[in-house]
Amino acid sequence: MAEPWMLRVALAYPASLAVPCAGLVVLAMNWPVEVLGDQGLASFSVGLAGVAAWTLTEYVLHRWMLHGVEPFRSWHRVHHHNAALPIRVPVLFSLLLAATVIGLPALISGGSAFAAPLSAGMLLGNLLQESVHHRLHDTQPLGDWLEAKRRLHGFHHFRDERRGYGTLTDFWDRIFGTLPPRA
Ligand SMILES: [Zn+2]
Ligand SMILES: [Zn+2]
Repeated sequence: MAEPWMLRVALAYPASLAVPCAGLVVLAMNWPVEVLGDQGLASFSVGLAGVAAWTLTEYVLHRWMLHGVEPFRSWHRVHHHNAALPIRVPVLFSLLLAATVIGLPALISGGSAFAAPLSAGMLLGNLLQESVHHRLHDTQPLGDWLEAKRRLHGFHHFRDERRGYGTLTDFWDRIFGTLPPRA
């Protein structure tokens, strides 16, 4: 049976960055005035918390969706076996994720001005994660921090896919007990 077009339309890096970038444009166009005024430092901190929240989101999606739910699992496996092939993520899913990242904080906080910087931090985290993931798979030498991430991701790809889910940080792998053994 042919797949519905909504599942077939997927963007490879760097085109895939278009969706979180579009989300940031939407946020910028609706940026609350309070956040531009005297709450700059507080909203910057909330933005950083958003980046941290993204690293948890990434861990959860990677571990339980990309490795647990079909058809994401089969698509993700293609990238595991041949790292040169991008992770197939339908644009429809990316759009829903960006809409959730923007809509959910606003909804939960009852329209607080801090929802926008939280969402912006999460979308920036998404951009950063995709860009870093791309760098981890090229052959260019990296700095110490990225080399450690490349080792973690390489272990996840080629040694044991039940460990090393984090791209930007191994923090959640430590918390959830999925850090590769030190060897
Ligand atoms: Zn990879
Ligand atoms: Zn994986």
